[in-house]
Amino acid sequence: MSSTNEERLDGALKRFGSHPAISKLREFLLVAPDEELFHIDPARLAEQWNLRRQAVLEILLRAVRFDILGMEWIFHCTTSGGVAKESLQLAHTHEHEFCPVCRVDFRNILDENVEVFFSVNLEIRKLPTSQREEYEQRVIGDITNKGRHVWRTGGTIKGVEILNHPIFREIFGGETLPLDQSLEIRAATVLFSDVTGSTAMYERLGDA
Ligand SMILES: [Zn+2]
Repeated sequence: MSSTNEERLDGALKRFGSHPAISKLREFLLVAPDEELFHIDPARLAEQWNLRRQAVLEILLRAVRFDILGMEWIFHCTTSGGVAKESLQLAHTHEHEFCPVCRVDFRNILDENVEVFFSVNLEIRKLPTSQREEYEQRVIGDITNKGRHVWRTGGTIKGVEILNHPIFREIFGGETLPLDQSLEIRAATVLFSDVTGSTAMYERLGDA
């Protein structure tokens, strides 16, 4: 098992405040095997912690806020399911992405092809770098052998789930969508009304 910078973890957890799940999060980060700390499975945590999924996502988002975890946005190719782009901020995305495997351009649809991963900050626990390579190889292997990587499973966190989470909007409201890009949302389930950026935009438009 990889080593943990316990001092740094406890310093970060102090800033977390008096959340009831802190001790569970601390134990998880200290004792869980490496593979559970890379691309963390919220369904598994919900079961282990006896919490609703929404509450687990709240804890993960707050942990990102205090640099305990990192959060990545994955843009899956709509043809192969491959990883066309990984980004630390949703705002870095574009209307279109290019899949290097299929060699095609595709249109990003926020509620259909975007996945979110939470993993421990490597400065808190030094996970082996091979985990990322193994994930990439598994994706490529699926596409080569089965024609497609199926990324939606029980543990999958869809981008739209995070975008609509009140804690994400509270903590990261100002850095959500790039305002100059028109990302398509097929089911129109994302509510932008209280996101800082769009509030500012509506004010400029004289609509608030
Ligand atoms: Zn592709």
